[in-house]
Amino acid sequence: MALPVVAIVGRPNVGKSTIFNRIVGERISIEEDVPGVTRDRIYGKGEWLNTEFNIIDTGGIDIGDEPFLEQIRAQAQIAIDEADVIIMITSGRDGVTSADEEVAKILYRSKKPVVLAVNKVDNPDMRDQIYDFYALGFGEPFPISGSHGIGLGDMLDEVVKQFPKKEINEYEDDVIQFSLIGRPNVGKSSLVNAILGEDRVIVSNIAGTTRDAVDSPYTYDGQKYVIIDTAGIRKKGKVYESTEKYSVLRALRAIERSDVVLVVLNAEEGIIEQDKKIAGYAHEAGKGVIIVVNKWDAIEKDEKTLQEFERKIRNQFLFLDYAPIVFVSAKTKKRLHTLLPMIQTVSENHALRVQTNVLNDVIMDAVAMNPTPTDKGKRLKIYYITQVAVKPPTFVLFVNDPELLHFSYERFLENRIREAFGFVGTPIKIIPRARK
Ligand code: GDP
Ligand code: GDP
Repeated sequence: MALPVVAIVGRPNVGKSTIFNRIVGERISIEEDVPGVTRDRIYGKGEWLNTEFNIIDTGGIDIGDEPFLEQIRAQAQIAIDEADVIIMITSGRDGVTSADEEVAKILYRSKKPVVLAVNKVDNPDMRDQIYDFYALGFGEPFPISGSHGIGLGDMLDEVVKQFPKKEINEYEDDVIQFSLIGRPNVGKSSLVNAILGEDRVIVSNIAGTTRDAVDSPYTYDGQKYVIIDTAGIRKKGKVYESTEKYSVLRALRAIERSDVVLVVLNAEEGIIEQDKKIAGYAHEAGKGVIIVVNKWDAIEKDEKTLQEFERKIRNQFLFLDYAPIVFVSAKTKKRLHTLLPMIQTVSENHALRVQTNVLNDVIMDAVAMNPTPTDKGKRLKIYYITQVAVKPPTFVLFVNDPELLHFSYERFLENRIREAFGFVGTPIKIIPRARK
């Protein structure tokens, strides 16, 4: 299910990132060994009144060397393209500026719902200053203080009220949604076209609810798929199209709507840092992952080439050790027919629920084989394990003291679970919890 999207816009220094961080809050968890994690985050999840949404800080999308006005125009345009509701932030300390008017003018034409916030209203005496902001034409301005956390609730009430009424539930449960991500030129569009083949003319492309992707429904061997294609449509002529942050944003949104993500690499160029970052996003999102090495036709090979490439991938993508690797060519279509069945398998594993008693047998056998570790004279005791969620499979492990479950032992248990149940292509999570 796609969540509603909120975008924050406004000229520099009004407090956009302060407010973004307040709304996303503690929900950002940073996994140290995964490279995708952005320090300067522009995209996150928020929740208000039991409604979840995604939120974008357009101020974080830097448009290269463009002049100031061009920058904020482009950011406003991104908000219009990506969001269901826009929060425009201004500053009560500065009053209405010409840059605010410029932003308002662009938003006004879009007919998207805009909630106007006047930030830096740190105390009640300053509330009088908000009246000037009616002139921007978005109705009642909401006085807020990002640094003190004042007024955000009223503002978010209004934002949630403006969400589209209908659930944006996209496809039936039996449809596998997948996307291809990777840096420019690795061959994502070529792969999409090759997978769809001639059928592309008879399937109707539905513009995704996200406006930044084209969804292509496809049936293969009785299984329904939807390819979420972000590469295929390019917003030609828009200044922000080629900026890195914007392509990251598009990739994140495609990942979020996917059950399975194909991380595409270019055999000709090998693995670079950016590939790792992109792969990190897929892992972090808890999706099924397949590593696809494209352009396999274009390199000189001997009998060792494949193993060597595979070893390099395993060394560079330690966190993706569960992901299968396929070597394909969009150009010659070599091994492309293996892709859809593999996506189906990974998707099934991603949604797999295992029986509690069998699961406990596996864990108890594992403990018998390799006794639990001790720390400062105290031994980890494992009482019980139960699967609490799918997509990805998530397990709660009841123990005497969660601190005693070290990474290496957790890894050991994870591997035993994988050996017993498969789970190829999907991350699994083990959450230790204390039981008195
Ligand atoms: P952005 O450029 O719009 O993302 O703005 P920032 O979030 O980086 O904030 C710009 C400056 O305004 C920083 O120095 C913040 O500490 C400050 N600031 C943000 N919110 C408030 C507020 O509610 N009150 C006051 N007094 N300062 C704020
Ligand atoms: P995207 O930016 O990731 O969508 O990449 P494209 O699909 O636009 O492909 C980039 C370039 O690589 C194009 O010139 C393609 O013709 C070429 N290309 C794509 N797949 C293959 C392949 O399997 N083999 C070879 N030799 N070239 C390919």
